[in-house]
Amino acid sequence: MAAMALPTDRATEVLAVLAEATCSILAEQPLQQRVHRLFEVLRAEMRFRDARLTCWLQSAMPGTVRQQFYSVDGWPYPWDDELMRRVALGETLESRTIVVSNAAAPGEHLPTVQAAYLGVPIRWGPRLWGVLEFRAEHTHCFEPAHRDLVSALAPQLAIAVAREGRQLVESPAGASDGETPAGLTLTPLRQQQLAAIDRRLEAMLGVHELLSLLLRRALEHTGAESGAIALVDHEAGELVIHVYEGYPHEQWRQLPAHHRQRLSWDRGLAGRAARLGRALLVRDVTLQPDLPPAGPGARAELAAPILVEGRAAAVIILDSSRSNAFGEEELAFMRALCERAAYPLHRAIHYQNALESANYLGQVFASLPTGLALIDTNGKVLRANPAWYALLGMHGERSHDPFHVPIDLVETLLPRLQDPLHLTEFCAASLHSPTENRILRLHLVNPTQELQILSAPTHDSQRRITGRLWAINDVTREGEAERLKNEFVSIVSHELRTPLTSILGYTELLLNREFTAEERRQFITTVYVEAGRLSQLVEDLLNFSRLEAGKVKLNQWVTSLHGIVTELTTQLHTQLERHRLLFDVAPVLPPVFIDRDKVKQIIFNLLTNAIKYSPRGGEIILEMREAQRGDLPGDHPPGRFALVAVHDQGIGIAPEDLSRIWERFYRVDNTNTRRIGGTGLGLSITRALVELHGGRIWAESELGHGSSFFFTLPVATEPASGKKSGAT
Ligand code: ADP
Repeated sequence: MAAMALPTDRATEVLAVLAEATCSILAEQPLQQRVHRLFEVLRAEMRFRDARLTCWLQSAMPGTVRQQFYSVDGWPYPWDDELMRRVALGETLESRTIVVSNAAAPGEHLPTVQAAYLGVPIRWGPRLWGVLEFRAEHTHCFEPAHRDLVSALAPQLAIAVAREGRQLVESPAGASDGETPAGLTLTPLRQQQLAAIDRRLEAMLGVHELLSLLLRRALEHTGAESGAIALVDHEAGELVIHVYEGYPHEQWRQLPAHHRQRLSWDRGLAGRAARLGRALLVRDVTLQPDLPPAGPGARAELAAPILVEGRAAAVIILDSSRSNAFGEEELAFMRALCERAAYPLHRAIHYQNALESANYLGQVFASLPTGLALIDTNGKVLRANPAWYALLGMHGERSHDPFHVPIDLVETLLPRLQDPLHLTEFCAASLHSPTENRILRLHLVNPTQELQILSAPTHDSQRRITGRLWAINDVTREGEAERLKNEFVSIVSHELRTPLTSILGYTELLLNREFTAEERRQFITTVYVEAGRLSQLVEDLLNFSRLEAGKVKLNQWVTSLHGIVTELTTQLHTQLERHRLLFDVAPVLPPVFIDRDKVKQIIFNLLTNAIKYSPRGGEIILEMREAQRGDLPGDHPPGRFALVAVHDQGIGIAPEDLSRIWERFYRVDNTNTRRIGGTGLGLSITRALVELHGGRIWAESELGHGSSFFFTLPVATEPASGKKSGAT
């Protein structure tokens, strides 16, 4: 300071700067922040373009560690290390015209410029601790007072650097961890920071949590203002942003939680780092037009990949608005951080994948209509899906907890089990031969239900048996279809065989022997009746299959029911020999809108049944009138209807069969019906035909006393004219 010979005012000014600069250097802050503050203070006074502090810290490793700090908003021109080395040899160097060019970065077309330069060695005692350099426009001169000011700061700076070095020497971090992959030595402070992160990473299993911690620490320890971490999708060639900090929201749109911003890895430093699998640094993005910066206003960028199994699983990108904000030291730190993050990230990704597939399988398990249960070797149900409880009639509320098979299962199902032994034997057999698959058809009553239980052994990864998986399906419908099919085959073959046997028997007799004319007439009548039965059976089957396939279309006309009555009596002539058919037909009947042939078939079926199921001499009444509201069942559709009824005094139908006679192939099973024969198709065809017309059919009956079958037909809305009215 002795060299300062300044006017008093100027001296006061410079002293004030010196005082402020000294305070900055001695502040309780990380060295990097203190240096930046120092540059700001000096810039106000010296009006330099940019500044650099190179210092050599004593490290725990043999030799020293070089650190460099750059001022904010530096010149895009590289510093000349040759000049710095000359200053390091001991001389303060001041030049008005150094030439700065971009020769160090080929391809960047910046004009070569001249600059003013000031370089001051930082000495304290016999040692050199660093070099402080300034560059300014060459039209601007550094004043001698500036050189003195910087020289006066040198001891303070040397102390700060030495202190930083001592701190590093005293750091407990293991020296052997200090080598980064690039061969640079990390300072013990950096190692300490990494060790602290390591401890946190060890305990982390969540990918998001882990990436958030990495980003926070990376920002904190490199001084970056913004940053992000993306997972790398190698198949799509994209970066999937997972966490980010410090960027404006519009930069990466606020997407719903289940969406992640995806970017092509063809653009930007992060993409390049991910593709190349190595850390990259750009000191000033404005000099790299081919590399669009990650954030607006970014000058310096650093991107470091986290390599898992040799390729980038994630990439960390850091931004600063200051050019040269990151140097070799930050790069080395980020490399080391990414190396340490590799295994925890690998583990977290695996864990997340495992969680996601478990979650997916859980959803499949819960939503399957098949009842599934995992049962351990002691029969304890470890896990069961809702369908399992529903199929067993438990509807979620578990009566036993824990639930055991077969004890609790048999107890739950006992009132409905047709044969409890079946179930217990099934479980005992599974226990006896644990490696075998087993299937059981379980018949339940009230309501009737058929369950198919498949029991298969489960294994752990060592192929040791851990228990069983039960899969339960409701096969009631399949069972019913199977039953119907068998019944159909037996009924049809019986119905075919009976008339065919009589036809063959009688024709054989007629061919081989002589009979009286009366006998011949009787035999031929029988053959005729039996052939009629066969023809009816074939007719029924054809009708049934056409109705089932939805192929029957009505040919509807406005018609009078009176005409139908006359035609039917002629048709039924031969069958009515043993019964009396009476008519109760209202003299005035409203015209109906019907398919004449189909309605004749309906009435014919009902009359045939009345004849079939009534004793000889029985009275059968065919009734026809307009339906009154009180005649119809409660669920009958509204409107005007004609009512047709067939009453008989036959065998009648028991109440439990009354609702089932409409089912296809359903036949009341008793000695009478077995003797009489039939396919069980007539009434289901009849009902389908009535309903096609928009009417309803129902029956009333008393066992042993006769039955009444009723059906309705819609009354035509226009006067009877014999004209077809629209329908097909
Ligand atoms: P099928 O008469 O060919 O057996 P249907 O479908 O016509 O078939 O009738 C189903 C069952 O309804 C018959 O098997 C019979 O048991 C019963 N049934 C139908 N009509 C009458 C009736 N008028 N009197 C008594 N039982 C009847």
